[in-house]
Amino acid sequence: EDAADGHRPRLTVIGTGYLGATHAVCMAELGFEVLGVDVDQSKIERLSAGEIPFYEPDLADLLRANLASGRLRFTTSFEEIAEFGDVHFVCVGTPQRADGYGADLSHLNSAVERLAPLLRRPCLVVGKSTVPAGTAAGIARTLARLAPANHPTGAASATPGAAVLAATGTNGRAQAATPDAAGQGGTVDVDIVRELGGVQLAWNPEFLREGFAVADTLHPDRLVFGVASPAAEGALRSAFAPVIAQGVPVIVTDYATAELVKTAANSFLATKISFINAMAEVCEAVDADVLTLAEALSHDVRIGGNFLRPGVGFGGGCLPKDIRAFQARADELGVGAALRFLREIDGINDRRRDRVVELVAAALDGTLAHRRLLVLGAAFKPNSDDVRDSPALAVADLLTRTGAEVTVVDPVATHNARRALPQVTYSESVDEVAAGADAVVLLTEWRQFAELDPVRLGQLVRRRVVVDARHALDGDRWRQAGWVYLAPGRPTGV
Ligand code: NAD
Repeated sequence: EDAADGHRPRLTVIGTGYLGATHAVCMAELGFEVLGVDVDQSKIERLSAGEIPFYEPDLADLLRANLASGRLRFTTSFEEIAEFGDVHFVCVGTPQRADGYGADLSHLNSAVERLAPLLRRPCLVVGKSTVPAGTAAGIARTLARLAPANHPTGAASATPGAAVLAATGTNGRAQAATPDAAGQGGTVDVDIVRELGGVQLAWNPEFLREGFAVADTLHPDRLVFGVASPAAEGALRSAFAPVIAQGVPVIVTDYATAELVKTAANSFLATKISFINAMAEVCEAVDADVLTLAEALSHDVRIGGNFLRPGVGFGGGCLPKDIRAFQARADELGVGAALRFLREIDGINDRRRDRVVELVAAALDGTLAHRRLLVLGAAFKPNSDDVRDSPALAVADLLTRTGAEVTVVDPVATHNARRALPQVTYSESVDEVAAGADAVVLLTEWRQFAELDPVRLGQLVRRRVVVDARHALDGDRWRQAGWVYLAPGRPTGV
């Protein structure tokens, strides 16, 4: 609503991985001019050539269309994005630290420290990465200290007074842009951005799901804006005007609440998954059926069926590291007891991986050494090539350690999996690996796996044993085709 056509803020995206590339493409699709930057030159080359460096449905077509329109470009130059942008979205990775549970903020800090000294005119820096509560406040201080636009008189960059001004600035009018700065880079006359006065920070956590990233970005459930001034809120509203116009709810809050919304959401989702997987553990002890249990629970509207699917647990580049970073942060804040349950959530999740190995062993008379296993799936979930903390790869690894001969098939993730877990064998062909296999283990519920014909596959394998760790197969159909069908949390029926 704020940005009339032709007066839209120019956007940049810093860090063009799963989140950043998607955000850049989708914002261009919404009509903005967008410039993406990354420290990984090969990623920038591929994106510039119209190639998505990872698997995400629908994204490649939109990338090519928006490159062709001229609205979307990529660069490795921070100078260029600093010149270009009115609103800079920071989307760099915040992985788990190598030495503990906490988040590794080194990429984030280095991106901000590289960008800030180049920011010579009013603009909004928007953090989208998932970060521990309290991170944004620190980044606001860094921007206040390092961004020349926050020092219009050219005062020394470390002046504490200037830092306070920018961090607490309300409408920024006290810091009207210098005439030369306002005109720099031929930027459009965007009043809403000039209102910022200097460089300000907002936190706008991202909730997209890999595999649905385009739809989630174009039509999010909600937008969360963590801001320190009405001017920052105004600039964010203009950067999301086409999304807000759809009626998407906007929650405007402070930095810390915005940061917490993301980690709280992921903690809740992880809890729901581990809850039903804990029920699966109990079901196994009494030969009950967790699928029926989950279905019955899901009809209770207070519980709901989403994320209540038992299986081999959660993984990926977000949930595991986010719940760990959340615990680490709570410990630092002296409220570790409040999140101690997340340790259990993680523990339940890990045990499901071991359980799948037990099921395979049980089906093969207790011995896994030298058994030939066809593992279906490497990605942490279908419709993604992401193997970060993938339960499928973790189980493949555990199976290999027992001495089994494991070959993994995945429609799109074997390229990443080969690097993450080089000690197992990979193949592109289910049929080739099925020939002579002692068991089939389904670990990622790709549709093409769910649609496998048990009769035809049964003619290829050495033994008709299948462990369906994701409850993706029709157990009755497989049993009718002569298979021993086992699935976690379900009666064995053998
Ligand atoms: P990713 O590893 O795919 O992408 C991160 C990108 O940042 C990489 O391309 C890397 O080269 C780049 N980068 C690193 N340091 C940089 C620097 N100094 N300057 C510029 N670029 C730099 O990670 P991702 O999955 O896109 O996640 C990014 C952030 O978004 C994380 O905080 C993550 O928790 C959050 N997030 C991810 C998802 C998701 O589904 N992947 C969803 C919501 C939130």
